[in-house]
Amino acid sequence: MKDGSIVFSVLGTRGSGPASGENQKEYGLATSCYVVETKDALIYLDAGSGMASADADRVREGKQVVVLLTHPHTDHLLGLPFLPALHDPGETVTLMAAKRGDMGAKQQVDRLYSSPLWPCLMEDLPAKLVYKDLVMSEKTETFQIGDVTVEYMEGNHPGGSTVYALSYEGKRLVYATDFEHLDLLPEMQPNKAPVACGDTAWKRLVEFAKDADLILFDAPYTDAEYERKKGFGHSTTEKAVELQKVTSAGKVLISHYEVRKTDEELRELEKKYGNPQVLFTKQGMKIEL
Ligand SMILES: [Zn+2]
Ligand SMILES: [Zn+2]
Repeated sequence: MKDGSIVFSVLGTRGSGPASGENQKEYGLATSCYVVETKDALIYLDAGSGMASADADRVREGKQVVVLLTHPHTDHLLGLPFLPALHDPGETVTLMAAKRGDMGAKQQVDRLYSSPLWPCLMEDLPAKLVYKDLVMSEKTETFQIGDVTVEYMEGNHPGGSTVYALSYEGKRLVYATDFEHLDLLPEMQPNKAPVACGDTAWKRLVEFAKDADLILFDAPYTDAEYERKKGFGHSTTEKAVELQKVTSAGKVLISHYEVRKTDEELRELEKKYGNPQVLFTKQGMKIEL
């Protein structure tokens, strides 16, 4: 990699759960996991099943290894025990997540990775795993990972989901997954379609993501499909296209594909909505900024 550059790699593109069809391999089977590499850091965005394909032989020497978790839904945690760095006795991995209810980062991970759902605890793995709870407030919060400045804010998703922005050497990358573009009335009635009551979350995202070089955005549905998926906490392909325009972002990457979407369906959507600024992610894709 070039000095001062950020390399963004796609390890998992599926949303809600992994796919397994022969006709889904082109866009990817594994769930949400991306890695951002700079001179000093390897920052994993979520720990979905794609994390299992992280390079085992990647040179980590001297680089901080950090996992930024958006939220603890299982599709974002399925791959955590397979992160190669966690199997290296000399390594320290830091996992950061916003508190969800009264659960800090460690409790969120341990809920899934403990008996009877998993045979061992994460602290039984050879590397040292350090947890950090991120404080969530009304405004944007900031911290550093080496030379990378990380800003974050609350998204719009059942149970919450953190939106992150990573800045390094004048480049800015925004990770906004599991984000619904409409605010919905909080008192949802069973068996009744939720009612949209505004778009304050969307406006906050547009402000947060303005002029980013790259935005990864959650778009498992089309606008037409969304009518039946309101309140699920996700957005649409059409909103991803709009997001690129209103933020003037260099690139918007569409991801978190619906678990049943086939390559053919995604190819059709890409033909209709894709352009040099709006890309459909594929597992294995790499972008250098
Ligand atoms: Zn998800
Ligand atoms: Zn989720």
